[in-house]
Amino acid sequence: MTTVLRTHEVENQVPLLAGYDVFGADVALTEAVEREGAAWATGDLHQLGRLAGTESAQELGRLAEANRPVLQTHDRFGNRIDVVEYHPAYHELMSTAIANGLHAAPWGDARDGAHVARAAKVITWYQVDAGHICPISMTYSVVPTLRHNAALANEWEPRICSSSYDPRNLPGEQKSGITCGMALTEKQGGSDVRANTTTARPLAGSGEFALTGHKWFCSAPMSDGFLMTGQAPRGLSCFWVPRWLPDGSRNLIAIQRLKDKLGDRTNASSEIELLDTWGVLVGEEGRGVRTIIEMISHTRLDCTLGSTAIMRHGVAQAVWHASHRRAFGDLLDDQPLMRNVLADLAVESEAATTAALRLARAYDADPADEHESALARLVTPVVKYWTCKRAPQHAAEALECLGGAGFVEESGMPRVFRQSPVNGVWEGSGNVICLDVLRALARARETLDAYWTEVEQACGADPRFDRAVVELRRELGDELTDLEARARRLVEQMALVFQGSLLLRHAPAAVSDAFCASRLAGDRGHAFGTLPAGLDLRSIVDRARPLLLV
Ligand SMILES: Cc1cc2nc3c(=O)[nH]c(=O)nc-3n(C[C@H](O)[C@H](O)[C@H](O)COP(=O)(O)OP(=O)(O)OC[C@H]3O[C@@H](n4cnc5c(N)ncnc54)[C@H](O)[C@@H]3O)c2cc1C
Repeated sequence: MTTVLRTHEVENQVPLLAGYDVFGADVALTEAVEREGAAWATGDLHQLGRLAGTESAQELGRLAEANRPVLQTHDRFGNRIDVVEYHPAYHELMSTAIANGLHAAPWGDARDGAHVARAAKVITWYQVDAGHICPISMTYSVVPTLRHNAALANEWEPRICSSSYDPRNLPGEQKSGITCGMALTEKQGGSDVRANTTTARPLAGSGEFALTGHKWFCSAPMSDGFLMTGQAPRGLSCFWVPRWLPDGSRNLIAIQRLKDKLGDRTNASSEIELLDTWGVLVGEEGRGVRTIIEMISHTRLDCTLGSTAIMRHGVAQAVWHASHRRAFGDLLDDQPLMRNVLADLAVESEAATTAALRLARAYDADPADEHESALARLVTPVVKYWTCKRAPQHAAEALECLGGAGFVEESGMPRVFRQSPVNGVWEGSGNVICLDVLRALARARETLDAYWTEVEQACGADPRFDRAVVELRRELGDELTDLEARARRLVEQMALVFQGSLLLRHAPAAVSDAFCASRLAGDRGHAFGTLPAGLDLRSIVDRARPLLLV
């Protein structure tokens, strides 16, 4: 006999946000895709968006997160195997990501806008599960660096570009597709890669080395190949380290343990030890930092995309909740103070989206295009810094819009919140990114020229923007020395002016007006929900509202 407790009627509950097109419902993103040259991809994007918006996809994300990866260091006979086991949901997420080209499509697709299309796909699919996007992102980012060794690229790039996900632990040549990782960080230093203590001893074969040491963070240790750094006789160098040796035996990558970390739990960040581990030199010996720089810049683009996705996810959930939940007799989003919070979150999300997609277009440009190359060099760290810095505060506020329900794991919001600071530290934490901006400014003045050419297209559109440009020009001045202590302030201003310029040119007046008033003219408080009076908040919230498919 089942006992039914009929104590009360359940009412005023918000329906599940499922059965919607995660891409199509994001108007700022759909417009950016068209504008930045990837209109040809919208069919695929809507398809992926509709999948991402299903209840079953959301369940995959939940399952992958709830069932943490498990490390098996040894087999039953005591032999080291170093294998991480994942829940089937993780494999299904990876399979979809790879089938849709999130891991590599632009490297095999000559169409203009391929990086933009991929960027939009990452933002869309990230909202199902952030963790598995880490190996996807590393696979994407490894390619330009691997090309520094033509023989390696010829052998491995076709496997990387395959749209088949093959999780089997086998040598790369026996698999229908592979994934890649990167391992730079060591215990004594992550930001300062030059302080690596892992040694790389030259072997008899040309360009072959034996690596001995450790890596303190190695996310995705089941990758088929890794880019690693180590100290060779001529200095810090970059190596390709496959999981399996050419003779079909295991390359020694001993996984010590998995990290119990903040952020997603889907992904198996690990600590590894290397003992005479076989690696092949990529790029010139002693020029390791120079060689990995392209990998780093693509990963930074992806950090921006990830934090952009976190903000859009938060806005979609918050607006959806507020448009179905009543308090004190009215729907929450009809209440002026809640509308201010939602609009402020939406403006932040749109600014991040617009900037991220403009940045992705710079990656699509011909490498000979000096303007776009210079822009990518400078704006990647600028936008990475600011988008990642905004995400945690944004996630906390979006979560609060759901009230207590937002704190409950089933809502998905705690996952968004836990993930929100991760992109900020990955591939350069805040200070390191700001110092990189200073380096870019100091090394080549044309990077700054490219920035001004880009942002000043909006001059004359709004006096608050014009004043911000004058102020930023004054801050930058002609003398770029002694800027270190104010680097965060400067980079923040650069990011805001970049976002403002894009919104003034491309967003509806309600959004750009709110942005200029609050972010450029400073008419706001320190928390979200402090936009000044007189703005068209309803239009901003309506634009961000996710609608179900009919
Ligand atoms: C979830 C997760 C996954 C990761 N996965 C990987 C991976 O797969 N592969 C990999 O190689 N690494 C990975 N990392 C490591 C990450 O890249 C490093 O943690 C990061 O680069 C910072 O290095 P660190 O931890 O040694 O901190 P440190 O370098 O010690 O820095 C500590 C603090 O000091 C600041 N700082 C450093 N230098 C300066 C300076 N000159 N001036 C002012 N401030 C400074 C930094 O901004 C930071 O806030 C991962 C990290 C996390 C959290």
